[in-house]
Amino acid sequence: MAPIRRLLGRTGLSIHPLVFGTLPMGPLQAGLAPREGGRLIRHALERGLNLIDTAELYGSYGHIRAGLEGFRGEVLLATKTHAPTAALARAHVERALRELGVDCLDIVHVHGARLTDPFAERGEVFEALLVLKAEGKVRCVGVSGHRVAAIRRAAEHPDVDVIHPLINREGLGIPDGAAEEMAAAIAAAGAAGKGVYAMKALAGGNFIATARESLRYVLGLSGVHGVAVGMLSEAEIDANLGLFEGAADGSAWGVLEGRSRKIRVMELFCKGCGACAEACASDAITVVDGVARVDAASCVLCGYCAAACPEFMIRVV
Ligand code: SF4
Ligand code: SF4
Repeated sequence: MAPIRRLLGRTGLSIHPLVFGTLPMGPLQAGLAPREGGRLIRHALERGLNLIDTAELYGSYGHIRAGLEGFRGEVLLATKTHAPTAALARAHVERALRELGVDCLDIVHVHGARLTDPFAERGEVFEALLVLKAEGKVRCVGVSGHRVAAIRRAAEHPDVDVIHPLINREGLGIPDGAAEEMAAAIAAAGAAGKGVYAMKALAGGNFIATARESLRYVLGLSGVHGVAVGMLSEAEIDANLGLFEGAADGSAWGVLEGRSRKIRVMELFCKGCGACAEACASDAITVVDGVARVDAASCVLCGYCAAACPEFMIRVV
């Protein structure tokens, strides 16, 4: 049977609607060895998934490379640069090409979790990605973001090919609006011909107990072509593939929906520097009495605070 594919807007790319999100397998979260992560990626690719999502920040290029070794099927790679300058964005793209072992990246996003207007705040980075596209090193230029304002701006911009927005049924992690407002921005993006694959449909694990319902909500939104999901076991991959292909296995989901994750600050050793609060796009951290405190209701378990902590005192567990 031919694998399921959806057109990714007007990019010319066709994707399986289940996109492999590699943030959770990397050092910010589960810290799987590259070979172990690669085994999971390969498992998904052999079952028809074809878009892998990563970022300069995720530390998962080695895992992806391991998964691709010797694979002859179709694979699309999307990465993101959080660089503030054109020079660093170029360096990030060159590193991705080198470490992933490819000549061209299918999608590179301006990694704009906190940005309100990516074209004003990261104008030179966006322009640099367009130059890299003209050079043949990048196929599609995208914008990823958590803010409704940023997704609205990206939907209107003629040079944006792909958008990677945060959306879940309660709008968890969207700092400037409700889920309905983000859904409207996504619908506008889809209508404008942008390829859209969403992130944080499970709010980083907050909605694990209602995973099927939460994933179906995002997958059913107007304008959404795919949903990136972080997966850490073959059972999780198989259950998600089943769900996205319309044949959910109830027993597997019963186990998966019973798990839980949370962010943990090792308070005894926290220096109260606030770097984690600065890195949190969801405004979920405040430093109280010299210790970082996380508001679980606002946290999407992205792990960016963990990456920002100079003392390595935060983990997603
Ligand atoms: S507290 Fe940390 S894991 Fe939670 S949303 Fe903020 S940066 Fe992400
Ligand atoms: S970055 Fe680390 S040390 Fe600084 S406040 Fe946050 S948890 Fe504490």
